[in-house]
Amino acid sequence: MTAFWAEPDFDAHESVTLVHDRASGLTAIIALHSTHLGPAAGGTRFWHYSDPAGAMRDALRLSRGMSYKNAMAGLPAGGGKAVILADEQRIKTPEMLAAFGDAVDALGGRYITAQDVGISEADMVAIAHRTAHAAGLPGQGGDPGPYTARGVYLGVKAAAARALGTDDLRGVRIAIQGVGSVGGGLARYLAAEGAVLTLADIDQDRAARLAGELGAAVTSADAVLGVEADIVCPCALGAVLTEASIPAITARVVAGGANNQLATGSEGALLRERGILYAPDYVINAGGIINVLRHIDGAGDAEINARIDRIPERLEAVWQESEASGLPANVVADRMAQKLIGRG
Ligand code: NAD
Repeated sequence: MTAFWAEPDFDAHESVTLVHDRASGLTAIIALHSTHLGPAAGGTRFWHYSDPAGAMRDALRLSRGMSYKNAMAGLPAGGGKAVILADEQRIKTPEMLAAFGDAVDALGGRYITAQDVGISEADMVAIAHRTAHAAGLPGQGGDPGPYTARGVYLGVKAAAARALGTDDLRGVRIAIQGVGSVGGGLARYLAAEGAVLTLADIDQDRAARLAGELGAAVTSADAVLGVEADIVCPCALGAVLTEASIPAITARVVAGGANNQLATGSEGALLRERGILYAPDYVINAGGIINVLRHIDGAGDAEINARIDRIPERLEAVWQESEASGLPANVVADRMAQKLIGRG
């Protein structure tokens, strides 16, 4: 493994802690990108990396992403991320989770952890037995999906107002890729407003069931980004906006909940060149993290909803700056986030 400060993803991270607990076999990396706005908050990923350098890259890149996301969500939180390096069998023991909880605790509140890929709610409860610095526990707000869906819905309306000249969604053709927790919730909001929906999911039964319920059309997961539509909403995987997929998009707006929609970042320019309004993913999909981090400053339901209600304002600020500067929306969002964390 190269030194982490030689990694291309190293971005003046405040600290990177390598945790090894011989007794339990835990190996983890906890990267704190910024605590400028508050404790560095972000999930813990449990993953088998064939090359450990991949774990370092993930910790560095994802912690910076959390700094940007939390800053643009207006949260009193910085950005951090932990990665637990699983073995090939992905064996996860109570002792490992306890040792990980101790490692989070040893950071004295500079890092607040939460669930991410490979960490269940029960795992978080086990971690929380060893540290008070764990968020999103049962009884503290529950599933983030519905909050994310509401934020994305508000963002879609803001995008419609800007690109189509009205936020009245009656008759507006909207295609959704992935109708799970976020995409399914979004579809319900949009159907209630009279949007004309096309749904796609690799789980075809799931898409067909929801389409039947909402009176929507169904298309294949491969075709959905290119269907005739006014707005497309990627709500499944990341890296779906590529040099190959973007030319097929007929919609004037791309606004969805999936993380890391742009394959490399440079595709933001391609969307802009094609006159497609893009809602930067980490700005529009912040509803879930807004809810998960509610205990950071004791925000109640009304404040959580008010924070989600402000997602359209932030998108609008990004789009205005993008128009004024000629820069792609994703670049503008990153720059705004960097300013907010004192690095502009
Ligand atoms: P989910 O697992 O509930 O739903 C994802 C759906 O996408 C599933 O129905 C799955 O079958 C489908 N899918 C997978 N690959 C697909 C493909 N190639 N084409 C079409 N459909 C496909 O997950 P979710 O919680 O709804 O999250 C969806 C996206 O939103 C993810 O990128 C996630 O990282 C992001 N996100 C989620 C939240 C949240 O609060 N849940 C918050 C922020 C971002």
